Amino acid sequence: MTTFVPLLTKDQITRLPERAREVVEYRKSGLSLNHVQGCSLGCAYCIRHTYGLWDENQPRALMTDAQAVEELVNHRYFTPHVTPVQIFNRATEPFLPKVRPHTFAVLEDLDARELTNHVLVITRHQLKPDDIDRLNQLHNLKVTLLFTYSGIDNKDIEPYPSHVAAESLKLMSTPTRRKYRTILYWRPLVPGLNDTDEHLVVAHDLSKHADATVFTGLFYRDQIAEYYRANKLPEPYEDTARRKIVPETLERRVLDAFSNSSALFRKTSCAVSYAHGLPDYNGHYGIRELCDICPLSQLELCAGAHRVPTSDQLHDVARVLPEAGDLKVVDTTDRAAVVSGLAAEQPRYFLQHALGFQVHDERHPHHANRHGRADLGWKAPHAND
Ligand code: SF4
Repeated sequence: MTTFVPLLTKDQITRLPERAREVVEYRKSGLSLNHVQGCSLGCAYCIRHTYGLWDENQPRALMTDAQAVEELVNHRYFTPHVTPVQIFNRATEPFLPKVRPHTFAVLEDLDARELTNHVLVITRHQLKPDDIDRLNQLHNLKVTLLFTYSGIDNKDIEPYPSHVAAESLKLMSTPTRRKYRTILYWRPLVPGLNDTDEHLVVAHDLSKHADATVFTGLFYRDQIAEYYRANKLPEPYEDTARRKIVPETLERRVLDAFSNSSALFRKTSCAVSYAHGLPDYNGHYGIRELCDICPLSQLELCAGAHRVPTSDQLHDVARVLPEAGDLKVVDTTDRAAVVSGLAAEQPRYFLQHALGFQVHDERHPHHANRHGRADLGWKAPHAND
């Protein structure tokens, strides 16, 4: 059994931060597999800061690909054909030259099991014509490539140039017949950094190549803010937040710039689902104001799939999770089920994907018209969804 990147010993793994040792982790857009960790691209806002992994700038493996896939498909959160999966989206770049063979090994293993789950692969790296051929040999998985593009040209914030992702998106979107889908993942949008009218025009032009476009803001968490301060980088906000930040005026300008586009989304899962001709797997349809920019055909798909679960159904689905023993359904409306008793976010995502319906935690109320985003840059909040 070999790995293309160095394989850590048991001792080295024991010394990793606790969250880094968690190779399978549920995140909002899917169950995430991260047995290769470490990245050389050095984006200042990288989520690796929040896992104690920032200093790991060379990829290393915690286990072989075969072991990792076993761990994923046997995980209590994994449901064949249902659970959306993400590969290497938290600790490395899936198309770094040394990581690429691991990415394909995982995809090919999952595909050989005849699984039809969504698989999201987020990249900003250079892709090659060979990648088209190899991805086209996957028969079962619903693969989506999301190309992270920001247009930021401050090398201290993004040392790896954004135009590479733009070229990769164009290359991978070119074949008219392909098995996978492509998304312009336009992020992070930061006021004052990459939101001039010109930036918006360039992103709009680029979006014409993709099957769909998502725009999102910046996860400006405490650890990332500390890094900005320590390295004297221009701080985008005065405060930090647990959700992504897109101020109201910037959102309005993005929507205006894309007024003639029919495939712009606020949510990753919406864009991914749309690109595969399926209803949103996160059940955002309940949050009606999210859907005002969605194509009519997609609205109809999501409307047809929208089922408000009963409290019994929520408890039934949660029964397989030991950590959901204290689950309480506080309220259920057309928009979302509000629950309490879950110590962490991961079981909530499991419920959400199993039911295709929004499940919110009572401790973190979602605000109307805020689309699950942070409060920064928006007028006074209303806790009514
Ligand atoms: S209809 Fe709403 S929930 Fe469905 S994909 Fe569009 S924006 Fe998302």
